[in-house]
Amino acid sequence: MKTAVFPGSFDPITLGHFDIVERAVPLFDKIIIAIGQNSQKKYMFSIEQRMDFIKKTFKNFPNVEVDSFEGLTIDYCRSKDVNFILRGLRNPADFEFEKAIAQTNRTLTQDNKIETIFLLTSAGKSFISSSIVREIISFKGNYEILVPDAVRV
Ligand code: ADP
Repeated sequence: MKTAVFPGSFDPITLGHFDIVERAVPLFDKIIIAIGQNSQKKYMFSIEQRMDFIKKTFKNFPNVEVDSFEGLTIDYCRSKDVNFILRGLRNPADFEFEKAIAQTNRTLTQDNKIETIFLLTSAGKSFISSSIVREIISFKGNYEILVPDAVRV
């Protein structure tokens, strides 16, 4: 069974994330959207809210699951016996950042290589980021057009 973990903060999930998952669904038997929890980081939405937004968004996708984890993504993948990490690429900055992480992850998984699969952002979605959405929410702007319907504050 080909399973991919899509790790991220998803604070909150956006139409950019949705696009990546929707396009990856035909490529894998199962996708686990895994919310990484970092105790040093401040989030706008609690882990329960972020999970709830994602669960509602993908309620009609039987092969998409939602989970959360602490620690290294590769350790989480090993615990789930998963060999693929899914990530989205928006711009050259994403590429440089993701390249270092993907190569590190391959180096750290000598025994059983974990491959990172990248999907390029769709035209019209590349400018969307959770941080921009949070900024709009904090100034009471029209964030709804950038996120799935399940994300309401
Ligand atoms: P992280 O804190 O790990 O960057 P995010 O929740 O911000 O987590 O993003 C998770 C993944 O989704 C990353 O691979 C990121 O590049 C991708 N992503 C975010 N926004 C978009 C977008 N608009 N188009 C394509 N991929 C995106």
